[in-house]
Amino acid sequence: MSPPAARIEALLQSLPGLDWSANSTEVKRKSLDYYWFSPILRRQLDGKLADAIVRPRNVDELREIVSACVRHNVPLTMRGGGTGNYGQAVPLDGGVVIETTALDQLVWFERGVVRAQAGIKLAVLDQFVAPHGWELRCMPSTYRMATIGGLFCGGFGGIGSITYGPLSTPGTVLGVKVMTVEAEPRILELRAPEALQHAHTYGTNGIILELEIALAPAHQWDETLLSFRDAEAAFTCVQAIAQCPGLIKKETAVFADSVVAYFKKLSAHIEAGESAAIVVINSSNRETLQSFVNTAGGRIAFQQTGAVAKATQHTLLEYCWNHTTLHALRSDKSLTYLQTSYEYGREREQLAQIEKRAGAEMLSHLEFIRDEHGRVICNGLPLVRFTTEHRLLELIDLHRECGIGVKDPHAYTLSRGSRHGAMSPASLDAKRRFDPGGLLNPGKIASQQPSGSS
Ligand SMILES: Cc1cc2nc3c(=O)[nH]c(=O)nc-3n(C[C@H](O)[C@H](O)[C@H](O)COP(=O)(O)OP(=O)(O)OC[C@H]3O[C@@H](n4cnc5c(N)ncnc54)[C@H](O)[C@@H]3O)c2cc1C
Repeated sequence: MSPPAARIEALLQSLPGLDWSANSTEVKRKSLDYYWFSPILRRQLDGKLADAIVRPRNVDELREIVSACVRHNVPLTMRGGGTGNYGQAVPLDGGVVIETTALDQLVWFERGVVRAQAGIKLAVLDQFVAPHGWELRCMPSTYRMATIGGLFCGGFGGIGSITYGPLSTPGTVLGVKVMTVEAEPRILELRAPEALQHAHTYGTNGIILELEIALAPAHQWDETLLSFRDAEAAFTCVQAIAQCPGLIKKETAVFADSVVAYFKKLSAHIEAGESAAIVVINSSNRETLQSFVNTAGGRIAFQQTGAVAKATQHTLLEYCWNHTTLHALRSDKSLTYLQTSYEYGREREQLAQIEKRAGAEMLSHLEFIRDEHGRVICNGLPLVRFTTEHRLLELIDLHRECGIGVKDPHAYTLSRGSRHGAMSPASLDAKRRFDPGGLLNPGKIASQQPSGSS
């Protein structure tokens, strides 16, 4: 339940010099994320609003806000770029949304490791380290808007994960600085693996101030759009590319013909009925890539260097991961999607089972990544032709019956939306230590869910 207006008023008056916004348009915009990708979340989260938005300009201001929220018993929800797509940053109980985008300083950078404040945008961080021969190991396709803190607390990985795995793979996040939510907020430095107790917990167990992450050596990349006569040839070719250790890669995605049809700006390059793939590979591997494509009977439909992509601001990376879903939704609002993970070695069999049992209701979009054991595994963000909520849940069950993992993107709580299922006991313990009053992003842990939100 939202705190009474008088309490919010008292809070705002206690900190008059801060960058507050209680303007209704701004409050609405900053209370929402991309939860609308899901018809179920739309029904559950439409109209959930903060009482006020605040944008601290430095850590001292953040500390004052946190302390005042605790004293006035007002919930607070952290927000980076607001690009999450399970309503992670949508405040369920009103209160204050704290936007981190002014806490965007680079703290230090040395020998392939960078430390930055949580509100720095991923593209800005990547651009900063690039001239020194380094780049981010992985980032979401929303890297232009998303922050490093938002990726750590609400995301997974994406571009680059074919080589380095998700962000939470041991060895990438080396440490975090966290603020507690107490009347006298404390700041603690946590090193990995303890730091990872705060990963993907939707900002429910502490406020991340800084992250220290290991980088990857930078490469010159070629972005390539491939086309194939059918889905089988596309899968075979891209899986071989993804598995080949001699090919240095950043992105390997496969799209059914029905999905690529939504890529309007690429339509001149792909013929109707062709399956497609996007691979981003080191420019030195250009000839090898061509031979893989020839073997599969495919063709290079379009190719550009990473430098051209940056200069023109038209990158193939922004067709991958959930940008695929975004492109499709722009054309057809009735679509939605799932997040799937196929069993290593059984991918083709499982994909065939889904095709047989769900047919044209599911439109295939696959992404290869490397898992924590070093295996190249196949994840999916298939589009779904939505009919009813009941049928959507049946399709999730159908995937699970076939042994396919589903990270449910139609749930906003950590027990269903989380990659690992329920929050780990260590993360819950961190919740008790870092947010003893339970004020951070309330309702996002299943056991705390407010009534009437199912
Ligand atoms: C088109 C599209 C494509 C996407 N592609 C990908 C993808 O490729 N890979 C992927 O992993 N995700 C993807 N996402 C989801 C999302 O963009 C990413 O996870 C992104 O990293 C989130 O960053 P953000 O700054 O926008 O976080 P926000 O949405 O602002 O926040 C995410 C969560 O983190 C919490 N949080 C933010 N900052 C802090 C902090 N400092 N301290 C504590 N908690 C905090 C928030 O409360 C919220 O729970 C996509 C989304 C869209 C809409």
